Amino acid sequence: MASSDPKLKTYTLTALGDVVGVQFSFAIKDIDAPVTLATSSLASVSDAIRKDRITVLSFSQYGSTVQAAAAYKNENDTMYIPDDYVSRPSGSQRTYDYGTVIHEAVHACFDLMAAKHLTHATGEAAAYLVAALYYEARHWSVKPGNDTFTQVLLEASRLTAKVKGANVTLTRPDFKDLRDAVMTHYKRISPGYRGDTIMSLGVAAAP
Ligand SMILES: [Zn+2]
Repeated sequence: MASSDPKLKTYTLTALGDVVGVQFSFAIKDIDAPVTLATSSLASVSDAIRKDRITVLSFSQYGSTVQAAAAYKNENDTMYIPDDYVSRPSGSQRTYDYGTVIHEAVHACFDLMAAKHLTHATGEAAAYLVAALYYEARHWSVKPGNDTFTQVLLEASRLTAKVKGANVTLTRPDFKDLRDAVMTHYKRISPGYRGDTIMSLGVAAAP
């Protein structure tokens, strides 16, 4: 397995470390058993990054033409983070960037859990929701806009109220608006996008 870029690995661990103070726990039920996501789920991703079970590389190595800030690839258990995140100023921009890293960490988390029967669009909805919980805790709010990406961020921030409290399980009707916004956005940036595709997940065993 490729080893992580040291600077980006440190940056990613710092970003994930910042979410530890944001307490959340909820389950999301797609088409089968619910999957639970909690603060500790992101800690398990940090642990996997430290142990090189999950690799962190430059986004320039992602090799996709699809427009995205960062990415996670299930096939090689790798997070792709832009090099310039490391040198961007702290404050609002840094908070936004950390949310992007947290989004990718949710994908990594599903991969670590080898979550079953999870469709692509629901995985995205969950990742945007966890990032929205982080943004809310850090008092970062979405700039208004009519583009499809802004709609995804707005729906995610609207959904945060529904996951406050103990033992919340979101079902399809609960996250329909967010999932629909994800579908609309991804179909625009990636013609032929099929959000109902069930993902193949599972991080390879550590060597
Ligand atoms: Zn995503």
